[in-house]
Amino acid sequence: MAVTLCQQRTAFLNEGAPGIGERKDRLKRLRAVVLAHRMELESAIRADFGNRSRHETGIMELMGVVQSIDYLVRNLSRFMKRERRHVGIPYRWGSAYVEYQPLGVIGIMAPWNYPLSLTMIPLATAFAAGNRAMIKPSELTPRTSELIQRMLACVFRAEEVSVVLGGAEVGAAFSALAFDHLLFTGSTQVGRKVMKAASDNLVPVTLELGGKSPAVFAPGHVNTRTMKSLVYGKLSNAGQTCVAPDYALVHADDLERFISLYKETASAFYPNGPAGPDYTSIISERHYDRLTSLLMDARHKGAQVIVVGESPENASKHIRTFAPTLLVNVDDSMAVMKEEIFGPILPVCTYSNLLEVIEYVNARPRPLALYYFGPNDARCKLLLTRTTSGNVGINNTLMHVAQDDLPFGGVGPSGMGAYHGIEGFRAMSHAKGVYVQGKWSLPRLLHAPFGRFADLVLA
Ligand code: NAD
Repeated sequence: MAVTLCQQRTAFLNEGAPGIGERKDRLKRLRAVVLAHRMELESAIRADFGNRSRHETGIMELMGVVQSIDYLVRNLSRFMKRERRHVGIPYRWGSAYVEYQPLGVIGIMAPWNYPLSLTMIPLATAFAAGNRAMIKPSELTPRTSELIQRMLACVFRAEEVSVVLGGAEVGAAFSALAFDHLLFTGSTQVGRKVMKAASDNLVPVTLELGGKSPAVFAPGHVNTRTMKSLVYGKLSNAGQTCVAPDYALVHADDLERFISLYKETASAFYPNGPAGPDYTSIISERHYDRLTSLLMDARHKGAQVIVVGESPENASKHIRTFAPTLLVNVDDSMAVMKEEIFGPILPVCTYSNLLEVIEYVNARPRPLALYYFGPNDARCKLLLTRTTSGNVGINNTLMHVAQDDLPFGGVGPSGMGAYHGIEGFRAMSHAKGVYVQGKWSLPRLLHAPFGRFADLVLA
């Protein structure tokens, strides 16, 4: 790994910062190679998960990758443009500007839940900013990770991008390398370790982490439309999405309607139940057992468990399908209300006024996303101004991630920094401020030996 990093850095220094043509060429090669391997990728991801429909992979991953590469190609000249800055009055004969310079070699660490998009979109961003990259994908999607390694080697030299395979130990060694920037996507727990390792080399980090994202329903706004959006966000990829609504906050008067509409909508989305072709499996036995124990713990502590379709215990463990499940009467003593669920279990909490909601959200770690279903009015504004979350979706779930022009990232325990949009380009660039001396300069009159002019200025 250290040798590859050294080779990439040497190539970067020898070849210099790539111009716009070369950056676009890399982006186009990336787009072409991903599309050429489309079917192989869909099969590898399906095999790694147990089941995941090619449509889900197409919509949730491939589309996003292609869309963000196209966005970067379209906006690259604007992003790369030198920015003129104002100069102070005494310096007015000179000029100042900011130049966005590639950093060098970017380390990219990825999780398993969207193994294609969470490696390829960071890579595209690194290329757009003129960098080289080393990628460490997840060990939990071995077929996909190995395919990504093979696929990239078809069109890129190892000095441009290289893929390192392995588990936590390799991840630990990877995060200790002296990259010029490290973008980590994964859990808050591992994010802490990664940041610690990076700090030894003063490597700047972007941390894309997890957390518990609430979905708040304004009173009277539990309806077919809002429910479709919620179910889409919660059950896509069987809830194994960093920005999936983790729990719902519903007005007490709307609880019954919420439960019946959720069941109805989930059944309509997945008419063949969890064993149907469109419902994604849980990634591993360990994750399946973790979800089962969250459920047991909640049930044991008095939660009402409402299963849509097949009961989780009866669902075939063979392909690890876990039925959509609602939990009512939950409280903070339950593990399900403490840790990120990352699966198709949705606890439903009730409230009686919006201030309670604000208090509830603010008493917990800052979430990666917050969803609000209701009119875009003063109440919505209050919720947005009084709470802090990585991003917000109003009357939708997940859609903010698909907006290439919006920064995507968390805050506090849900992350640090952001990518997508110009923010991603800038996170992987060095903003170099340059001041060019003009013919005249008042500050020159302030050099030693100090005289009357210095007295005048300081008076
Ligand atoms: P994870 O933190 O377990 O693993 C992420 C990566 O870190 C993997 O490549 C893994 O091999 C590596 N790793 C594991 N242990 C390590 C260690 N000790 N030192 C260094 N590297 C190590 O995360 P996961 O289970 O793969 O993914 C699920 C988590 O990722 C969830 O918390 C989810 O919310 C989060 N996530 C966040 C985003 C986002 O954009 N914010 C996107 C997807 C997933």
